[in-house]
Amino acid sequence: MEIILANPRGFCAGVDRAIHIVERALEKYGAPVYVRHEIVHNKAVVDRLKEMGAVFVNEVDQVPEGAVIIFSAHGVGHEVYANAEARKQHILDAACPLVKKVHVSAKRHDGEGRKIVLIGHKGHPEVEGHLGQIDGEMHLVSSPEGVNDLPLTENDAIAYITQTTLSIEEAQGIIDALKTRFPQIEGPQKGDLCYATTNRQAAVKELANEVDMLLVVGSANSSNSNRLRELGESMGIRSYLIDGPEDISFEWLEGVQRLGISSGASAPEHLVKAVIDAIKQKISVTDVRNSITMEENISFSIPAELQ
Ligand code: SF4
Repeated sequence: MEIILANPRGFCAGVDRAIHIVERALEKYGAPVYVRHEIVHNKAVVDRLKEMGAVFVNEVDQVPEGAVIIFSAHGVGHEVYANAEARKQHILDAACPLVKKVHVSAKRHDGEGRKIVLIGHKGHPEVEGHLGQIDGEMHLVSSPEGVNDLPLTENDAIAYITQTTLSIEEAQGIIDALKTRFPQIEGPQKGDLCYATTNRQAAVKELANEVDMLLVVGSANSSNSNRLRELGESMGIRSYLIDGPEDISFEWLEGVQRLGISSGASAPEHLVKAVIDAIKQKISVTDVRNSITMEENISFSIPAELQ
């Protein structure tokens, strides 16, 4: 069997930055530091940081007054910020700059009197953070059909923003439906999908033409990892989302000549290597190679107090 690796895959600049912030905060301020929500959606990453002394909580009221609290890469709404400030907590915001960019758009549209439609998945922490940016109207829509139910009229001033980790096709379908119902609507032509989301999807799309089966390394709650698995399936390739080697069912690999592997933006590369090693122990692998769709060289700096 041949293994072909999607490239780019794995950690994006926002995830790298968020993890680095927790590590540096532990070094500088000592354990425990508190992290609201999983810093990034990956079990292995969260388990490692827990071992280092990070304490993960759901809400700021679980954190003692004055303690260090880190907000996850997904971003938070104003209320969460205000609650942490009221408790005099030492806030470190690990929200990805590309999520923050969407926050800025939401505030601008709200300030200019537009009602906002947010394209995203209900309950995802990034979506909760976007919804919490403004006091004005923001309506969540998750499907083209949902556009018909929006309590807005053609005469309203409206703009849309999107979650950063949607599938390109899914976002475009909803944007098209919005433009059909509200021709005057404003928003970025392809939504606010980030570079990491679009690049990893482009790489899987290319890889799917070469392989018989796809493994995506990523956790079940990782939005961008799920989208990669769905993309493989939509291209007719049997595709599985796995946290690591322990999740592989070797029956899946029977008869597979070329196996594709990708990983979500929050999945560390050592898990991809562990998956390859586990397969090599059971199956004869003739070659492992990268299928390079594009190069990435983006990085984000961490807050000055941690540099
Ligand atoms: S997936 Fe995109 S938006 Fe999310 S942390 Fe990575 S770069 Fe930022």
